[in-house]
Parts: sequence; structure tokens; C-alpha cells
Amino acid sequence: MNSNRAFAQIPSVDRVISSEACQSLVAKYGRSIVTSGVRAILASIRSELSHSDKAIPSVTGIVALLQRNIDEAHHPSLKPVLNLTGTVLHTNLGRASLPEVAISGMVKIARGPSNLEYDLESGKRGDRDDHLERAITGITGAEAATVVNNNAAAVLITLNTLAREKEVPVSRGELVEIGGSFRIPEIMQQSGCELVEVGATNRTHLKDYQQAISEKTALLMKVHTSNYEIKGFTSSVTDKELAELADSVHIPFVTDLGSGTMVDLSPFGLPHEPTAQEAIQAGAHIVTFSGDKLLGGPQAGIIVGKKNLIAAIKANPLKRALRIDKMTMVALAEVLNLYRDPDRLCEQVPTLRYLARSVQQIEAVAKEVLPPLVSALSDHATVDIVDTQSQIGSGSLPLELLPSKAIRIQPGKPSDQQLQQIAKAFRHLPTPVIGRIHDGKLLFDLRTLEQSADLVEQLSHLDYP
Ligand SMILES: *Cc1c(COP(=O)(O)O)cnc(C)c1O
Repeated sequence: MNSNRAFAQIPSVDRVISSEACQSLVAKYGRSIVTSGVRAILASIRSELSHSDKAIPSVTGIVALLQRNIDEAHHPSLKPVLNLTGTVLHTNLGRASLPEVAISGMVKIARGPSNLEYDLESGKRGDRDDHLERAITGITGAEAATVVNNNAAAVLITLNTLAREKEVPVSRGELVEIGGSFRIPEIMQQSGCELVEVGATNRTHLKDYQQAISEKTALLMKVHTSNYEIKGFTSSVTDKELAELADSVHIPFVTDLGSGTMVDLSPFGLPHEPTAQEAIQAGAHIVTFSGDKLLGGPQAGIIVGKKNLIAAIKANPLKRALRIDKMTMVALAEVLNLYRDPDRLCEQVPTLRYLARSVQQIEAVAKEVLPPLVSALSDHATVDIVDTQSQIGSGSLPLELLPSKAIRIQPGKPSDQQLQQIAKAFRHLPTPVIGRIHDGKLLFDLRTLEQSADLVEQLSHLDYP
């Protein structure tokens, strides 16, 4: 317990603020932030003093603490990280990295007013979808298109518009859950429609759908099983068969592609992922897919299909609640524009560029980062280069793995606690580095590291106890 004399030694608010160091903080951040910051620090010193013998910090010490507190409060908690997990489209790490043209487009539009919903020809109110519709229909071959906040929203508004208070048959093999928060049965319930499960988990036939159709059926729906695959004795009904069945009873056929790429992925050594254009060609009336999965753009849900159905979706009051903002709009417009030049697409869209990287290119970066990592961790861990496999992530081609190279970090003696501490030290770097822990080792998959400097230049900040 401290005596009253100790309390008397705590500097006054005025004394701290009038110090030279503190005055420069006042100049930088304003009097009000600094004063309340000093008060808070002094209050905590007082409360600590009442139950400990801790020394009273000097004015300089208090100002230094204040600077740290202000810095912390000043920096948004959302910040860039290096995703070295080996999952290219990592939902928790923000999925697709945007192409440079999309970023500069966003900066331009963010800075001031734009013709977001203004028709420059007529001088009257315009429709924000006009900025994107032609590009999307041009690529997909659909009659019409609209865009909402994400693909979950695209499915929600489609079902709510076309199937409210009616029934929707879906195959038992397609009742997917994506990322824990998107489940087809729950989305259907939220949309106000009733799910009618058809077929079995592994096999669903056309006759299962035929038998499920009644007066109450609003539409037929297919959901791309994007994060798992049913193997073995399986059977599902093609888009074409479902579209024909839907046509024969005059109801729409809706397909949720999930990732919905717009290019053939086979040049990357990946199997074919269904494209939006194929679904439209097969006769789908509505197709939904994400903007920030394999498309490589901003978070968005793209809905394409028949003119009358898209018009109905746009007229739903939910559209207003789920619409995209101007920054997403310009980013998506720029990304779609890149799709007009398939030859350079892969170079310009980071997601596709990462997928296309060869093992040799990845290994070259691994060899650059290895020596600095070895010396940064020499006392604590062994570091080497190993073969690994990256995955696409976000439910795209879940079973496909791309050969890659990783830095492997192994604590001196096997210890989970040490491994966690090393991983944490990397997460505390100025640009946090996120790897994946596998089998007692920390792996940094370098498929998504293009500039070794992004990692190496930070290593002097590595604070490992
Ligand atoms: C990813 C996915 C969704 C959800 O898309 P978000 O853009 O994450 O909202 C819906 N359906 C399928 C099949 C998916 O793969």
C-alpha cells in the first residue's frame, strides 16, 4: 500500500499536458483527445497505487504511454495481412484480392460524387444496375442481370421474389452449408418458401423432381455442391434436364453456382467448374454466383437470367436493402472489363494469377525468404522449404489441390506452446502473417506471396520471447 506522499507525486494533468512532448501530441491530435487520454492514464496510475508499490511513471513515461494509446485507438482494427495459409480464397481473410484497376477505380469514385443513379443523357434519375448489366449479360449471354450484396443475398432475394409462400424442390444431395452461416434450408425459410426435399443424399433422378411438382411448386432449384463432393454410387440431374422439366410446367429453373467462374480453368490444371454462361445455355432461367470467389472481384452476388424474372427481383423491396454501394459497383465494373481480354486476364486478376503460378515460381520466392527466416528464428526453430498443396477455398473445387511450396517452421523441441508462440509472433508483425499449423509445424504456403520483401522487410519486428 502506498502512502499519501506517493499519491502527491503523481503529476497533475496540467503538468503532463504542458510538457513539450505532450504539446506536440496536442498539435497532432487536438486538445480534447490528449486531455482525456492523460486523465485516463492518471486515473489508472492512482488506482494501481492504492494496491501496489509500483513506481510512479515520469511525465515522459506518461506521454509515451499516451502516444501508444492514441495510436491504438487511431488505427482501425481492420488491416492488411499476408495470407500464407495456402487457401487462396480465404473467407476469413477477405477472399479475392482486387486487380489494380479496380482499386484505382474505387479511389476515384470514393473521392466525390458520381453518376451512380443519374442518367447523364436525360438528366434524370438512372438505375445503378445500368453500370454493370451490359457487361454481365455480354459475358454470360443472359437477357438481364442485377447485383446484390453477396451470393447469399442473391439466393435470398431470388427465392423471396419467385417462391414466397410456395414450394421449392431441392435435391437432398444439395442442401449445403457454406462457411457455417449460409445453409440452403435456412435461407429458404428466411425467404418465406418451403423446401421440398427430393431424392436421396447420393442419388437424385428426374422422376424425383417430377413427383415433387404440384400446384404449389414455385420453381425448381439446383445448388452447386461447392464445398464437398459426393462420390461413389451417385446420380444427379443436369441443368438441361431440369430446365426442360421446368419449362414443361411453366415454372422457372434457378441454379445457384456459388463460385460461378466465367473462364475455363483447365489451363491452370484445374477441372472444369460450371460457368454462368453454360448454365444459361443449358436453359436456366436464373443463375446466381459470387463476385469475390473465382471471379476475383469485390464481394457481390450476381443474378442473371430472364428479363421478366430479373425485373421482378429488382422490384422486390428487399433489393433496396441488399443493393451494392458505389465502390463495389466500380470495382466489379473494372473486373468485368478485364474479362473482355482473356489473354491478359490471368495476369491482371490476382486470384487467377495465384492459381496459375507454377511450382518453380513459388519455389524461387521460397529460396529468397528462407535465409532471412532462418536467421530470424535461428535460436528457436528450424526452418526449411517443403512441398505442400494449396487449395482454392471459398467452396470452389474443394477437392482440387495445387502443388506448391511452403516454408516449414518447427520449434527446436516439439512443443505446441512454442509453436503457438511463433505463430503469434508472426501475427503481431506490422502486416500480420497468417500461416497454417499442420502436424506440429507452422507452414507458410508461398503461392500467394509475390514479393518476398513483403515478408522479409518485416522480420526485424519479429518479437519472439
Ligand atoms: C459461397 C456460396 C454461397 C454464398 O455466397 P456468398 O457470396 O459468400 O454470400 C451460396 N451458395 C453457394 C453454392 C456457394 O458456394
